[in-house]
Amino acid sequence: MLDIKTRITALRQELREHNHNYYVLDAPVISDYDFDMKLKELQELERLHPEFQDPSSPTLRVGGAVTKNFNTVVHEQRMYSLDNSYSKDELLDWEKRIQRILGDVAVTFTCELKYDGASISLSYENGQLVRAVTRGDGFQGDDVTTNIKTIRSVPLQLQGDYPVKFDIRGEIVLPLDGFAKMNEERKENGEDPYMNPRNTASGSLKLQDSALVAQRPLECLLYSVVGRALPMSSQFEMLEKARDWGFKVPTVAKLCSSTEEVMNFISHWDLHRHELPYETDGVVIKVNSLQHQEELGYTAKSPRWALAYKFKAEQASTVLNEITYQVGRTGAITPVANLEPVLLAGTTVKRASLHNADQIEKLDVREGDTVFVEKGGEIIPKIIGVDFSRRDVDSAATNYITTCPECGTTLERQPGEAQHFCPNDTGCPPQITGRIQHFISRKAMDIEGLGGETVELLFKEGLISNYADLYTLTREQLLPLERMAEKSADNLVSGVAASTKIPFERVLFGLGIRYVGETVAKKLAKAYKNIEALSQASQEQLTAVDEIGDRIAESVVKFFNNPTNIEILDRLKAYGLQFSLSEEQLENQTEVLKGQSFVVSGVFIRLSRTELKKLIEDNGGKVSSSISSKTSFVIAGDNMGPSKKTKAETLGIPMISEDEFLAML
Ligand code: AMP
Ligand code: ZN
Repeated sequence: MLDIKTRITALRQELREHNHNYYVLDAPVISDYDFDMKLKELQELERLHPEFQDPSSPTLRVGGAVTKNFNTVVHEQRMYSLDNSYSKDELLDWEKRIQRILGDVAVTFTCELKYDGASISLSYENGQLVRAVTRGDGFQGDDVTTNIKTIRSVPLQLQGDYPVKFDIRGEIVLPLDGFAKMNEERKENGEDPYMNPRNTASGSLKLQDSALVAQRPLECLLYSVVGRALPMSSQFEMLEKARDWGFKVPTVAKLCSSTEEVMNFISHWDLHRHELPYETDGVVIKVNSLQHQEELGYTAKSPRWALAYKFKAEQASTVLNEITYQVGRTGAITPVANLEPVLLAGTTVKRASLHNADQIEKLDVREGDTVFVEKGGEIIPKIIGVDFSRRDVDSAATNYITTCPECGTTLERQPGEAQHFCPNDTGCPPQITGRIQHFISRKAMDIEGLGGETVELLFKEGLISNYADLYTLTREQLLPLERMAEKSADNLVSGVAASTKIPFERVLFGLGIRYVGETVAKKLAKAYKNIEALSQASQEQLTAVDEIGDRIAESVVKFFNNPTNIEILDRLKAYGLQFSLSEEQLENQTEVLKGQSFVVSGVFIRLSRTELKKLIEDNGGKVSSSISSKTSFVIAGDNMGPSKKTKAETLGIPMISEDEFLAML
């Protein structure tokens, strides 16, 4: 028993360090795979030994707890706003006011970036995160602890000489590349993209299912420690200490001893802020000495010792020369504005997104117009309006294209969808290369030694026209290609060969069936176990699978009805790719819960909700989100919603504990 406890403690400590290396220091020392293996081991040990449960365990990062209503919590110390300023004069005025109050002393300032996300207050006791609360109205906010625990850069257990009890404040942000990836995935799955990182970050905090929060690449950047008798005397020192305890505190903060230095910091970041991985909307200037801060105190709304300097909204106006149209992997058409190059936010902008036909109509944007361009959270800027005063009298309204710019096929648009599509999925070049690129991508076949550009080259050279062709490539075919050294050719061939070991659900995802994202692929693989069964499923049968809707079902059936796809699949089978779940995957699955439907409600001790649901599905049961007369059992945990409870009682549905459920298996 002692051995197990020691192992659990050691694993937790090790995983904590790796988390810190990866998410706080951006310097991982082990592979993702090794990390996952250790995490799995810990999860398994914790499942078997609930007596060693720990609210700070790294396993909690995956989420699972669901919150119906977030409790309101009063902040022990109020969360203030910041006064804003927009010019050097305002900054100078602020400094004068401060100097007047403090008298004839030297004042230094800490300059930090103003991170644009959602404010958060974290409470730590004895080095453990005990609570995370949103800013709310500044006096009280919502308890979002379960969601915050899933954010990898939030330490659950501190290191070093931290105070016994304190709060720390910061901002939850969604870094731009993570945001872009989320939107790409949404587009691939046929969903509308999110508008901007800030709203998405603050929306994430209030999601009811923490497992969903865990999937979002959120980060927590800290800037202020509050509490009694703190072991530091300045703002700058506070940042350093917080960093030592394990928090993510951006290192760009600078100690400045003159207004000149402060202005230099502001000008520098105004110009370079777009090189940062996350969005910022200004600089926060804080009087450095905590003693000075105390003397200065607060107004009704904000501290007198801090000032936000807001960056100017970044807009520019320029001429739109031409509207062109891009074709994506799924055939989705995206209109692009080609602009007269203009300097915006430190970079030259030549292109901007126009989203879709509706957007063009709404803005009434036309070729030759002078347009306003804005750089928001998106990587490519967007057009926000037209300068109608400068429109040419002869200009004609934009006619959206009706045929594919790449292959000439008539475009289609499904009712209720914003995007037009080119339906020629097997003959349209960007769709062909896009599909192959998706197939080889990291979350799918993860083929080493082959990248997106090489795919285009191979297609252009006539060596591949679908992903099955990859498996016939030989070193002799590759060597004559431009920039293809012997080593690269060998790597490519062996990378392709190695991919035949990739498990079924990832192969299924890699096939690029529309609306079949990573999660859906897993669900389908589990439900059907092999490609034969899946390919024979009817639309009704498919929609009977949990969370598979009409849209997905229709798309799957359509895919398997296409003879070209079948031919490609047959070839892939012949090359030895995995088209059924492995023995090991099958072993963990039974049919003991067949025909039974479960509703999972509340918070559990041994298993997370996600694990419970997985167990139900692995054993042939069905998970449903609401109680009806068809429900066989409600698995009830702590804090189960009262309305669910009443409903189960009225309908006479048996409520069982998690232990009783485990006994059923
Ligand atoms: P505002 O919402 O404009 O009143 O600005 C105040 C908010 O700025 C605070 O609630 C913080 O969440 C946020 N903020 C972002 N970065 C910082 C920073 N470095 N220091 C202080 N506050 C910050
Ligand atoms: Zn086309």
